[in-house]
Amino acid sequence: MPVRMPEPYRIKMVEPLRTTTPDYRQQALHTAGLNPFLLRADDVFIDLLTDSGTGAMSDRQWSAMMSADESYAGSRSFFKLSDTVERLFGFPHTIPVHQGRGAEQILFPCLVERARQRGATAPVFISNHHFDTTKAHVEIAGAMVRNLICPAALDTARHDDWKGNFDLAALASDIERLGAEQVAAVVITITCNSVGGQPVAMDNMREAASMARRHGIPVVIDAARFSENAYFIQQRDPRYREQSIHTIVREMFDCADIFTLSAKKDAMVNIGGLCCFREDGELLRAAQLRCVPLEGFITYGGLAGRDLEAMAVGLDEACDVHHLASRIAQVEYLAERLQKAGVPIQTPVGGHAVFVDAGKIRPDVPGHHFPAQMLVNALYLESGVRATEIGSLMMGRHPQTGEQEPALFELMRLTIPRRTYTDNHMDYVADSLIEVVQRAASLRPLDFTYEPAVLRQFTARFKEI
Ligand SMILES: *Cc1c(COP(=O)(O)O)cnc(C)c1O
Repeated sequence: MPVRMPEPYRIKMVEPLRTTTPDYRQQALHTAGLNPFLLRADDVFIDLLTDSGTGAMSDRQWSAMMSADESYAGSRSFFKLSDTVERLFGFPHTIPVHQGRGAEQILFPCLVERARQRGATAPVFISNHHFDTTKAHVEIAGAMVRNLICPAALDTARHDDWKGNFDLAALASDIERLGAEQVAAVVITITCNSVGGQPVAMDNMREAASMARRHGIPVVIDAARFSENAYFIQQRDPRYREQSIHTIVREMFDCADIFTLSAKKDAMVNIGGLCCFREDGELLRAAQLRCVPLEGFITYGGLAGRDLEAMAVGLDEACDVHHLASRIAQVEYLAERLQKAGVPIQTPVGGHAVFVDAGKIRPDVPGHHFPAQMLVNALYLESGVRATEIGSLMMGRHPQTGEQEPALFELMRLTIPRRTYTDNHMDYVADSLIEVVQRAASLRPLDFTYEPAVLRQFTARFKEI
């Protein structure tokens, strides 16, 4: 039997966790309006809400922070970051931003403006799938989104290596039908968060990008989980088996003209992001102009010099194949434990999380009564583990009609922070969830007592019906 490799690090500093009683959690969840997003984090034992900003930084990241340059403009730490970006991605123009959505707020209105100048009357963004804040920024900028995920992604039980892929036929026909001038950008999300952290194949990225480029449409990579996508390409595409993560990253980014990146994911910082351009042109300058009032001067973008340092080191550590192997193995470990107990999960498992198919566990509960949120709440009450809903609640309503948007599926996401928890924590999560799923028939559907207009999952409140 092959030896299972342990984590490729040892622990130098620990943070104690707090345990609570079931009665205490009942009270806490009630106060939070049955929405674990509104809990105090101190009342959570193992926090699998998100992998965003929750990774453990390395001693190298911490020590780089100590020697940061806090100059307002043109700091050494900025140049270290932009040199790292150019070396890893081949993009010479870096704008740091406070996080991924900072990049979205400076970039998307510029892309909409560019499209309008070229005759767009109803600008659209086409993506394999827009992340929720990405969709929000498209809509705030006065444009619409189209999500053209491949059909394989819609069947959580079906094995497919590339569930993050674009439906290329749909992309071609959309560009044709809408007219290329209406398409403000093609956004390639790697890995594709909204369908379960699923990877996009190199050929699919290339084909989507070349289709866009043939029509003069800018290609944007939404790059939060870029190195996990590269790792999947290395593991699953035999042509890349012998290629380094660095080589694969470079090849992926050759597809793009611009990328936005939340450094809170693969780059393992607590805060930070990037908006990067291949060309020194009008779009770069327009984004820089927006950056100054919204994020801060173009060499710090709302971050301290120390944040720029931590990000520069984190981008490199993200590409360490031993780190990636250990990380993905931990996600797979939790997935295997659940599968062996018959819990329906999305397969193959994605990069950053295990997605439990609540729609299969409670097929009797319609989307607008939030079957996945029911499961999230029950898991918290059982164990103090906090998960999150990826389904009808997150999809929200159509901005014009106000109708609930049909969700592709009703998932509970167990999101695993990087380098933060051990496999023992994963065992506790698995044991607790298996308990909950066994009595899932007794869980009660939910209704809003407060429904925010957008990004509902963050602040909604519920009652049981
Ligand atoms: C997290 C994320 C974002 C937004 O980044 P923030 O740092 O949370 O603002 C955008 N796109 C994808 C794919 C993400 O995962």
